[in-house]
Amino acid sequence: EGAVRFEDVVFHYDANRPILKGISFEVPAGKTVAIVGPSGAGKSTISRLLFRFYDVTGGRITIDGTDIRDVTQKSVRAAIGMVPQDTVLFNDTIAYNIRYGRPAASEAEVQEAAAMAQIGPFIETLPKGYDTEVGERGLKLSGGEKQRIAIARTILKAPPILVLDEATSALDTHTEREIQGALDRVSRGRTTLVIAHRLSTVVNADEIIVLEGGRIIERGRHEALIRAD
Ligand code: ADP
Ligand code: ADP
Repeated sequence: EGAVRFEDVVFHYDANRPILKGISFEVPAGKTVAIVGPSGAGKSTISRLLFRFYDVTGGRITIDGTDIRDVTQKSVRAAIGMVPQDTVLFNDTIAYNIRYGRPAASEAEVQEAAAMAQIGPFIETLPKGYDTEVGERGLKLSGGEKQRIAIARTILKAPPILVLDEATSALDTHTEREIQGALDRVSRGRTTLVIAHRLSTVVNADEIIVLEGGRIIERGRHEALIRAD
């Protein structure tokens, strides 16, 4: 469940400037595909098209064989969990932030999601109403902690498809490594599209697609691409 296909997708924001110039790839159900490439290559555009923030100019995108233009935007988005690189939190407990969008989730489910994302210990110790952003009245959350909250939120939503956007990740190497374990756990068994800058962060992907100037210039597994470098 949740197979994603891009079939000869062409896209431009402005009529005269093609951004994606005929992109075809598949993320088989439960597999992980990474899109890697320099800034401006069109990586984020791919995730925006998948979310139907824009519709393709040519070609099509399908989920389990259905053209995403044939279903509502809402149902497309319900099937997709996004872990953005920059998470905006509410000024409330971590549990509240994890639960956001899933009010019916049980306490046990929230705890389990927090544990998977490795923020379990924080969940009860932080008082309600503490300022998650400014930190004047309590601990300031680091970028890595915020990202773990976003991961826990996504675990709780349990979407069949995941989009992990690492494109402009501001995390330091140490935090990035910590987060990687949590991300690997969330993506296990889910159809996952990773948007990344560097090959080094997507070692475990089933396929890596190298995008440049709106075209796929290379594809393969990590070992093969490293060897070709
Ligand atoms: P990447 O994620 O690989 O850095 P993007 O998909 O964000 O690349 O952008 C690809 C190209 O599309 C860039 O040249 C960018 O300037 C352009 N672009 C992105 N968003 C818009 C937009 N809303 N309107 C016009 N051009 C855009
Ligand atoms: P939900 O409440 O089910 O998460 P939303 O309608 O709030 O649904 O958002 C739909 C999805 O789109 C969410 O997973 C959200 O993270 C994602 N999303 C929101 N903004 C962006 C963006 N700029 N780029 C990519 N995905 C986004």
